[in-house]
Amino acid sequence: MVSTTMETLSVRTENKFRTLITKQTYKKGEVICVMPSENIMDKPNRFTVQIAKDKHTHVGKLAALNHSCDPNVILDTENMLMIARRDIEKGEELSFFYPSTEWEMQAPFICLCGATNCIHVVAGARFLPLSTLETQYLSKHIREQMIDLLNNTKQHLKKIQSK
Ligand SMILES: [Zn+2]
Repeated sequence: MVSTTMETLSVRTENKFRTLITKQTYKKGEVICVMPSENIMDKPNRFTVQIAKDKHTHVGKLAALNHSCDPNVILDTENMLMIARRDIEKGEELSFFYPSTEWEMQAPFICLCGATNCIHVVAGARFLPLSTLETQYLSKHIREQMIDLLNNTKQHLKKIQSK
């Protein structure tokens, strides 16, 4: 059974910096919880997760998830599930790759995660090269928006060349 209560997760706050900690271990691929969806909006803010092209939702406790370029969870926005990306130890901080759900973020920041594949500027998928995105799990709406962007670029190039 999938837990919707999220009792296995706790939010730790230190100097106003929030982290989401797991109280139990998870195996790679295991469903950790259902993503809560509260008041859906058409614009993002610092606490929302993008779930479709113009849909951003508050996610309750999961708003404490920080970004990592080498994350241990993925947010499956099609099925609204948080899933372990690898084996996770009890007491570990949970993190996901923000551009996997966010096309264009309202509050970009510099990442200091230290991963060898760190993207440094976290501003949303539209600002990342395809080669970087390909190495990460991506939500369906991000893949679709990426294809739209590529098609628009192709058409734009055709127009320039035909002049
Ligand atoms: Zn990073």
